[in-house]
Amino acid sequence: MAALQRLLRAAASGGAVTAAARRRMGSLAAEQAPPVAPAPKGFPFAAEERMRRRPAAERNVQWVFLGCPGVGKGTYASRLSRLLGVPHIATGDLVRDELASTGPLAAQLAEIVNQGKLVSDEIIINLLSKRLKKGEDQGESGFILDGFPRTVKQAEILDGVTDIDMVVNLKLREDVLVEKCLGRRICSQCGKNFNVACIDVKGENGLPAIYMEPLLPPNNCMSKMITRADDTEEVVRNRLRIYNDMSQPVEGFYREQGKLLEFDLPGGIPESWPKLLHVLNLEDQEELKLAAA
Ligand code: AMP
Repeated sequence: MAALQRLLRAAASGGAVTAAARRRMGSLAAEQAPPVAPAPKGFPFAAEERMRRRPAAERNVQWVFLGCPGVGKGTYASRLSRLLGVPHIATGDLVRDELASTGPLAAQLAEIVNQGKLVSDEIIINLLSKRLKKGEDQGESGFILDGFPRTVKQAEILDGVTDIDMVVNLKLREDVLVEKCLGRRICSQCGKNFNVACIDVKGENGLPAIYMEPLLPPNNCMSKMITRADDTEEVVRNRLRIYNDMSQPVEGFYREQGKLLEFDLPGGIPESWPKLLHVLNLEDQEELKLAAA
C-alpha cells in the first residue's frame, strides 16, 4: 500500500514539458486525462489511492520503452532522458542494485534473474515505487520507463495509477538480439554499458541487413569490463522466449490504446538515433541542446 502510494504521488508531480514532445504526445495520447480506470484485481492497495491525473500538456513526459532484451532500450531511453530532462528508470537496474546489496531479497532475486525469469509483480512494483519516491524527494517529474511494464498485469497496474503518454516499441531481428546480448559488457567501475559485438548480417528471408559497429570502452574502462550473469546464450534465449510469452502481449495492450509507436532499428546508434528523434518530432530539441552546449 505504502509503496503504491509513493508511486501515485511521484507520478502526480508536475513540470514543464517540451513543446516538441508535447506536440508528439498530442498525436499519440489524449490531452485530457481519461476517466480513472477500475483498480486492477489482485493488487488491493491500488484501489485506495489514485493519483490526480494531469493533462499531458501540464507535466513532463511519461513514456515507456518496450522491446526484447538486447534491443537497446537502455541506450535510447537514457539518451532521450538527458534530452528531455526526465529520469530514465530501468527496472533491470533496480533489480541489479538490489542484487548487489546485502538486503534480504538479494539471494532470492539472484536465482530468478540468473535463469532469465521475471521477478514477481509485487517485488518489481515495490522496487519501482521506492525509486519513484526517491526521485520525487529530489524534485524529479516525468519519467522514461525501461523494462516496465513487462506483463499485461503490470501494464494494468500502471494504467490504474498514472497516464502513459507514449510507448516506444524498439524492434530488431532475433539473431542480432542474441549477438548483441552476448557482446554486452559493463564497466565495473563507472557502470557504463559497452558492446564488443560487430554485427554485420545480410538481408535474407524478408529480414533486413543490419550493420552495427561495436561500442568499445575507453582505455580506462577496458580492464574493468564485466559480463552480466544473465547474458549467456542459454539465458538470453530463455529471456527471449519469456519476452515473447509474457511481454509481447503488452505491445497489444498499448496498441489498442493507440499509444504504441513501432520503431524498427535501422542499424547502430549513428543511423538509429537521428531517425528516432525524427519520428518523435524531437530534432529541434536536440539542435537547441547542442547549440546551448
Ligand atoms: P533487464 O535489465 O531489463 O533485462 O532486466 C534484468 C532482469 O530483471 C530481468 O531478466 C528480470 O529478471 C528482472 N526484471 C526487470 N524488470 C522486470 C519487470 N518489469 N518484471 C519482472 N522482472 C523484471
